[in-house]
Amino acid sequence: RALNFNAGPAALPEAVLAKAEKEMMNYRSSGMGVMELSHRSKEFEDINEQTMNLMRSLLSIPDDYEILFLQGGASLQFTMVPMNLLEEGSSASYVLTGTWAEKALKEAQKIGNAVIAASSKDVNYRSIPSTSKFDIPDDSSYLHITTNNTIYGTQWHSFPESLPTPLVADMSSDILSRPLNLSSFGLIYAGAQKNLGPSGVTVVIIHKDLLKRSKTGLPSMLNYQVQAASKSLYNTPPTLSIYFLKLVLEWAEALGGVKQLEMMNKEKAALLYDAIDRSDGFYKGHAEKPSRSLMNITFTLANEDLTSAFLQEAEESGFIGLAGHRSVGGCRASTYNAVPFENVEKLADFMNRFRNRN
Ligand code: PLP
Repeated sequence: RALNFNAGPAALPEAVLAKAEKEMMNYRSSGMGVMELSHRSKEFEDINEQTMNLMRSLLSIPDDYEILFLQGGASLQFTMVPMNLLEEGSSASYVLTGTWAEKALKEAQKIGNAVIAASSKDVNYRSIPSTSKFDIPDDSSYLHITTNNTIYGTQWHSFPESLPTPLVADMSSDILSRPLNLSSFGLIYAGAQKNLGPSGVTVVIIHKDLLKRSKTGLPSMLNYQVQAASKSLYNTPPTLSIYFLKLVLEWAEALGGVKQLEMMNKEKAALLYDAIDRSDGFYKGHAEKPSRSLMNITFTLANEDLTSAFLQEAEESGFIGLAGHRSVGGCRASTYNAVPFENVEKLADFMNRFRNRN
């Protein structure tokens, strides 16, 4: 298998792919492949329910939160969050920590009054702004943050507490990578295609109190309350993506859950940050150390020629997906849950050898 460091869709656990391969043709003696099951069948309803139960136990989601499986990616949540939660006559606050946060703000501004509570744009998104600098209007309906900034390689390592307004978080690129105290959050959402499974399903976890804000006049598909009332089966769901999500959650549970995954993620990220920090400036990490992401390790080399040579040699050696996002350049290694430790070791080794040669 390739040494896959893609930012998303990303590597899936090999065991998950192997299990899925078996069930593609004949799911549990049904005589149908898993893709062929009706979403109203007992088999699929069981898959849906088991997936929600696994999500609840792995992330310790309290009973007063609903779990939704939606479509449209995290990007549709940029619209659904303000549509459902932004109360009339009030504003929504956004912390800008990168491109995805900017996009979330821009979409919210199409729905109502959305303002910037804090930003690290002036330092090229190298860090997470300090909570003490937040400027949240009194009438704010919620505060939106992006817990892991996939493009810049920064991550929140603690979350604001005792906020005057519910906290909403885009966790697309770090959900399930570490334990989570959900009670700090009103709503979290995540596209599945990094840590949870393939693309096609977006997980939304919302406190039941916030569900009451969804107005009946909203389009049904975009209404959290409608989706919750129908257990996310209001229309045909992305059955295959939900099935894969279940397999990934089972894999995570068998490994020992989110605490174990966090430990493994720390070990993997440390290998690459060490290669950067011990390179005497040959590699430069983009993120400031306290804000470094355990999921996306971003770095640059001295100039474009060296960067191209690095990426080309890496590709020839079997490493996939190491080019930085097209908007920022440089290099990025995404080390999500399913990326094996041995692959990261090989990359750290490659980085050291490339530096010695150049
Ligand atoms: N938010 C974050 C943090 C992301 O990393 C991404 C995609 O990479 C998105 C949102 C957009 O996700 P989607 O493509 O599912 O709309």
